[in-house]
Amino acid sequence: MNNFNNLLEKTGEVGYVRMIVNEIVYADGLPSARPGELIIFENGERGKVLSLSPDSVEILAFSKKPIKVGGKVARTGSPIAIPVGTQLLGKIIDPFGSSFDNTSLIQKTRDYRSIEVTPLGIMSRRKIIRQLETGVGIVDIMLPIGHGQRQLVIGDRKTGKTNFLLQTIVSAARAGNICIYTAIGKKKIDIKKVEEYFKENKVTDRVIIIASTSQDPSGVIFIAPYSAMTIAEYFRDRGQNTLLILDDLSTHAKFYREISLLANKFPGRNSYPGDIFYVHARLLERAGSFTVGNSEVAITCLPVVETPQADFSGYIQTNIMSMTDGHILFDSGLFAEGRRPAINPFLSVTRVGKQTQSAVKRSVNRELLSFLTLYTKLRNFSHFGAEATESVQVTTETGERVLSLFDQDTSSIIPSNIQIILLTLLWAGHLNVTSTKDILDYKNRFVKLYETNPSYKEFIDTMLDTCESFNELLSLINRNKAQVFPGGKL
Ligand code: ATP
Ligand code: MG
Repeated sequence: MNNFNNLLEKTGEVGYVRMIVNEIVYADGLPSARPGELIIFENGERGKVLSLSPDSVEILAFSKKPIKVGGKVARTGSPIAIPVGTQLLGKIIDPFGSSFDNTSLIQKTRDYRSIEVTPLGIMSRRKIIRQLETGVGIVDIMLPIGHGQRQLVIGDRKTGKTNFLLQTIVSAARAGNICIYTAIGKKKIDIKKVEEYFKENKVTDRVIIIASTSQDPSGVIFIAPYSAMTIAEYFRDRGQNTLLILDDLSTHAKFYREISLLANKFPGRNSYPGDIFYVHARLLERAGSFTVGNSEVAITCLPVVETPQADFSGYIQTNIMSMTDGHILFDSGLFAEGRRPAINPFLSVTRVGKQTQSAVKRSVNRELLSFLTLYTKLRNFSHFGAEATESVQVTTETGERVLSLFDQDTSSIIPSNIQIILLTLLWAGHLNVTSTKDILDYKNRFVKLYETNPSYKEFIDTMLDTCESFNELLSLINRNKAQVFPGGKL
């Protein structure tokens, strides 16, 4: 209360609430208020100035507690800012930077940053040249993501989007990146599951979870991705690469639509307000690859968008596609067929990721894409019951094996070099495979070998570094079979 009176004195303006429409509050007596400014109500709750009119200020209240008509309102003179710092690592916080469920103690800091800033300009941006490994084979080989890329993760509900992102976080955190997971209007139980997953994989000390639940006021959910981006920028400015997940922006858009309709903004396409594109674009523009000091530091951003019944042509979906550098498409049809992850490589796009792949990986990628196209065509054709020649049978069998090589369950994270070695061995017919379980066994054995034996890891990494193409790799592996899989029968 003292604080409130101080603010009133400092700004010299005392506002009064005149009208309330759900979370939108109209107040007068604040002639110098600016859009985006933080407002404090008499009961201590916060709000943000949405717009100004000659005789009143429109405020979005961040509270579910009732605000009284006639109550006092104070300006703060500053935009919404959140505390930032390394003390946030390993914590779950709400979009204002306080502990989410009061379980984790967050130390006080003097470092505050405004959540709305202008994105850095072209002069401080760099070309995207380093690959960010996700630990998910099909993505690392066929749809590579670069550090600083903005890659949309799109698909129907319950198709494994979040699961893929969690695997990516674990893989990136192990590689030394700071990871931020933003839950936008999720259920509490889902946030708990995410937390558990990080604990199980022992990466909590490199991860920050920013949580807003569907029960939170719309305004709080609305600012969640901006807060997350602000924290990512803090780590970028310290020279640390950051991976930012926004799960998900279609929910974000829905809450913004609700706020806008309540505030009497003119509804446009699908009732979304006219500035919905700007709302997302000014956020995603803040990610990228930047020059910090003398080095290159990146904020990689993976926003999620849900599609209603595989309709990828919706308003929000296409908006976000146009402001990202590609998308990974989760296909409900493939999910129903039992494929995990259910990523459709033909309908997914990565615009800048390919330039981050090494020559051999690019060559494998090209080879694989043309092979899988052929395989899919043949498989569709064989559905007609046509009799298959021997070569067609070989192609379909190899295709099935390649696809089952890409199957990964929730807990498995496979380094991309091992995926390539396995793929090449399979291609050359060196793996003795009769069932999908055999492939799983091989995967486990190779990953274990790679992760526990440093000299083996070095051997594989150098071999892949020196190769220029898939054919060269095939002949190299043929020559060094015993070294590629020491002590094991192929
Ligand atoms: P939502 O629409 O709720 O956000 P989503 O698309 O994020 O869903 P997930 O929650 O990641 O999907 O996954 C849905 C279900 O599929 C979960 O029960 C999860 O365990 C299972 N699943 C997803 N990916 C895999 C996988 N690679 N292996 C095994 N199970 C998986
Ligand atoms: Mg999800």
